[in-house]
Amino acid sequence: MTALDATDNCSVCNLGQGGAKTVVHEDDLFVVAQSHRYPWGLVIATQRHNGGFWTMTDEEAAAFGPLTRRVGQAMVKAWTDQVYLAAFGEEVLHFHGMLLVRNVAVSEAAHGAMYEQLALLEPREAEAHARAEEIRDLLC
Ligand SMILES: [Zn+2]
Repeated sequence: MTALDATDNCSVCNLGQGGAKTVVHEDDLFVVAQSHRYPWGLVIATQRHNGGFWTMTDEEAAAFGPLTRRVGQAMVKAWTDQVYLAAFGEEVLHFHGMLLVRNVAVSEAAHGAMYEQLALLEPREAEAHARAEEIRDLLC
């Protein structure tokens, strides 16, 4: 059994099996659910284990945009005036994004922390620019 097969303790594999407060959508490719960890948003996750958004299949990638838009539209209609999409992929074996309800205090704190960290990276800005140029060349 590889790490990508380890479903017993996987919080995303368990979302559709009673591990979520509310499952709002589920199909062969994705599950969208309110997580116990952060109930002020929804998790949109691939059904299968993978390594991140860049490892989605073409079918998953094609479905992700329309599904995310539909869920975001429903969230704006039912819950909030703004939805944030964040994906970190640090702890779970699925690509998973968080569709987060706007919270001004959290947003301001997150922006503050992000800009504080970016200021620390400023001496390495030339390196970042070189990486962006390399990515541009890879996409040509
Ligand atoms: Zn899993």
